[in-house]
Amino acid sequence: MPTTIQHLPMPVPPATHPLTSRHVAVIGAGAAGLVTARDLRREGHSVVVFERGDQVGGTWVYTPKTECDPIGLDPRRTMVHSSLYNSLRTNLPRESMGFLDYPFVAKDDPERDPRRFPGHREVLMYLQDFTREFGIDELVKFETEVVRVGLVDDLKWKWKIKSKKRGKDETTTSTTPGHVDEIFDAVVVCNGHYTQPRIAQIPGINEWPGKQMHSHNYRVPDPFRDQVVVLIGSSASAVDISRDIAGVAKEVHVAARSVADETSGKQPGYDNMWFHPMIESVHEDGTVFFQDGSFVLAGIILHCTGYKYHFPFLETNGIVTVDDNRVGPLYKQIFPPALAPWLSFVGLPWKVVPFPLFELQSKWIAGVLSNRFALPSQEKMMEDVEAFYSSLEASGMPKRYTHNLGSSQFEYNNWLAAQCGCPEIEDWRIDMYKACGKNKRARPEFYRDEWEDHHLVLQAYEDFIKYTSHQVSERCISQ
Ligand SMILES: Cc1cc2nc3c(=O)[nH]c(=O)nc-3n(C[C@H](O)[C@H](O)[C@H](O)COP(=O)(O)OP(=O)(O)OC[C@H]3O[C@@H](n4cnc5c(N)ncnc54)[C@H](O)[C@@H]3O)c2cc1C
Repeated sequence: MPTTIQHLPMPVPPATHPLTSRHVAVIGAGAAGLVTARDLRREGHSVVVFERGDQVGGTWVYTPKTECDPIGLDPRRTMVHSSLYNSLRTNLPRESMGFLDYPFVAKDDPERDPRRFPGHREVLMYLQDFTREFGIDELVKFETEVVRVGLVDDLKWKWKIKSKKRGKDETTTSTTPGHVDEIFDAVVVCNGHYTQPRIAQIPGINEWPGKQMHSHNYRVPDPFRDQVVVLIGSSASAVDISRDIAGVAKEVHVAARSVADETSGKQPGYDNMWFHPMIESVHEDGTVFFQDGSFVLAGIILHCTGYKYHFPFLETNGIVTVDDNRVGPLYKQIFPPALAPWLSFVGLPWKVVPFPLFELQSKWIAGVLSNRFALPSQEKMMEDVEAFYSSLEASGMPKRYTHNLGSSQFEYNNWLAAQCGCPEIEDWRIDMYKACGKNKRARPEFYRDEWEDHHLVLQAYEDFIKYTSHQVSERCISQ
């Protein structure tokens, strides 16, 4: 990986606003928390990262462990953070996926996965490299779960974080045994949003005799051997998992809102996979009826139906709420106007290229906290949020799509970049994202191994030379 890093330029602060260093808590050491910690420290803040796991990487720390409640309804269950399945390869090409000034290039190392769409372990190793390169480990309190974040009553704009160290009888400074309280100027929430399952509501499910599982607890196909499986969903994971399972199951029936008459039926290339519209109802004899009147006798329903934002530790007296999966109100997906800039969120947007977006969000937060960049007044931020919500409503977008940036992600990134005085997102990255989407639609089975955007790969690696001092192997470019 790179040994010499050229940092993105930082704008010169206005002379009238002296830079201020804050004491900042970051919750989570996944990709979002790591880049946030780096950029906060670069800006001169003192940073403590709380991580309940025993290593960095968040989602990318694969574990074969699953939760005892396979659909994740029992609030007392022991949580497993990661939702990765064993066969997972990235659904974005590595060149576009990496942080802006720390490219995700292939390494000439037999331990590493040089593919353009590598397996999950390679992403974890990249995040570990990033952590080492920027010395972030030393900022992280591992196996330390944040259990409460709230404003301190008698200290204006200070936050108290109550945390719990796993398995240790820590010196106790708070009223709750085993818990530790610490005071911070600001808190950045980076706890991820692929852990708390969302489940499809299915009429008759309480009488239905089969098993249910959410994709959060899917790891390998073996338990589905010889079964008739109904899988709900059409996301990237749903597509991967249905194919994984089809290798061993007797039948796989995929039910999705997006399935229309012309796409339903037996899937080409498979003799055991069918597409259907959504489930209409299920019955005590084991049958599952679809909305087009077809039905199957199934043993398992696998919900690949997404996740809920979940902040069980956050106490804001109702200032920040989660309503139909809208976390709000948030100015530019980051700051609750009434608590800005002392509380912020990195990583809420979805249907995006996550790492570069996290990086720009964290640079903006770091600069706002130090007074390098100014936020509008609380009223102006609220007006902006309300105008955004009205525009979603006017276009018929349900609340739960508030953080789905999709086609507007690069405009959003460039807005953030402009706030921070950073260059805009590279054209090749945008074109590559679009080319990948097109290729995925054209070659759903093979898009990870066959593509046509070789010229964009070359452009990317030409760009990466700015950030890397090592030679990029020919192998990486031609793969
Ligand atoms: C199946 C799947 C496939 C994906 N594929 C891709 C892909 O191909 N390319 C891509 O770019 N992205 C992909 N993503 C998106 C992925 O989530 C992001 O890339 C990114 O890893 C999210 O980082 P994060 O830091 O926001 O969250 P996470 O990685 O989830 O990290 C959050 C961290 O917070 C910690 N935490 C949570 N609560 C607490 C607490 N109370 N106290 C202390 N610590 C806490 C967790 O332990 C965790 O380490 C995929 C996601 C999934 C689920």
